[in-house]
Amino acid sequence: MSTVSEVTKDTKHRPYNFSAGPGALPEAVLLEAQSEMLDWHGTGLSVMEMSHRSKDFAQIAEEAEADLRELLNVPAQYKVLFLQGGASGQFAAIPMNLLAGKDRADYLVTGFWSQKAYEEAQKYCKANLVASGQSGHFQSVPEPDSWRLSKGAAYFHYTDNETIHGVEFPFVPEVTCPLVVDLSSNILAKPIDVSRYALIYAGAQKNFGPAGLTLVIVHEDYLGRALPNTPSIFDYTAQAANDSMVNTPPTYGWYIAGLTFKWLKKLGGLKEMEKLNIAKAKILYDAIDGTRHFENRVAKECRSLMNVPFFIKTEVLEKQPELEKRFLDEAKKARLLTLAGHRSVGGMRASIYNAMTREGVQALADFILQFDESIK
Ligand code: PMP
Repeated sequence: MSTVSEVTKDTKHRPYNFSAGPGALPEAVLLEAQSEMLDWHGTGLSVMEMSHRSKDFAQIAEEAEADLRELLNVPAQYKVLFLQGGASGQFAAIPMNLLAGKDRADYLVTGFWSQKAYEEAQKYCKANLVASGQSGHFQSVPEPDSWRLSKGAAYFHYTDNETIHGVEFPFVPEVTCPLVVDLSSNILAKPIDVSRYALIYAGAQKNFGPAGLTLVIVHEDYLGRALPNTPSIFDYTAQAANDSMVNTPPTYGWYIAGLTFKWLKKLGGLKEMEKLNIAKAKILYDAIDGTRHFENRVAKECRSLMNVPFFIKTEVLEKQPELEKRFLDEAKKARLLTLAGHRSVGGMRASIYNAMTREGVQALADFILQFDESIK
């Protein structure tokens, strides 16, 4: 079997992709998948063409789970599920599975995605807004002193990294009820203590695979409690009992995720990845902070390692409104792609997930500094 880093090819011609998601995947993973596209390990089949019940796919699935467990140090009492429906599917599945006879759950809102999770939960329970960063334009995590926790909450939900606003928690919330976290845009970017959580979930399309695969890591204490009308595919108990194969799982996404886990292991695991991510983020934030005309508005202690929104200062843009478009056009010519900010906030955003190289971040930092110089 060829391993992820043994496949080499000159891919220098590829541009740097700063997309927020689906985002860049490690080139080594794409090349490995390419080399196995028509014939996985001498079977004569593409992984896309295999039965999910076959012995070959079982090997792919089991290895992916084992590698993920190793990377995240997942305790044995947790089930790892490979599901569909995206992180948004989990906004509904979480209350359906975790309310367990209770009528309320706590939601901390720190940006666009935690707001969405909070809104979806209102269909199923009394979702209590613990605190919202909205009045501060989602530029920091509300102080824990200001949180209004409810008595009898089935769980507390938060989004560790807000992909659009670029706000990442510098701490794990201390609450007495079960803790649930959306890690869609920063899973596997750094080590975490899984045992602090009742449930962790993440869409694959930012840090470990293609869209269509959703990872759920759930403590077995929270199984067996789903609301009776929970669809089977969203019922953690049924999925855990069937190795995530209540129906046909997203087999190709699962396979790519498995290759990404191997790539991460080869790199030295999550401690090494974290060091790289800290170094990359520093290059970019230092560049932005060092300019005269650009700014990142997030409180320093909450700046995301993964998603870096940045803006041309308002007073500059008022006089030269064409600058943003010029920045994006020239960046594209310099092969720095997908830098427009989310439509809800505007400006620019660079997503620098695990697959983004240090060279790519340096190229963007240099470009920002040069562009800054060119502004009159
Ligand atoms: N949570 C976060 C933090 C996200 O970034 C996203 C997608 N950008 C979602 C949830 C929603 O994910 P999906 O599109 O897979 O439903």
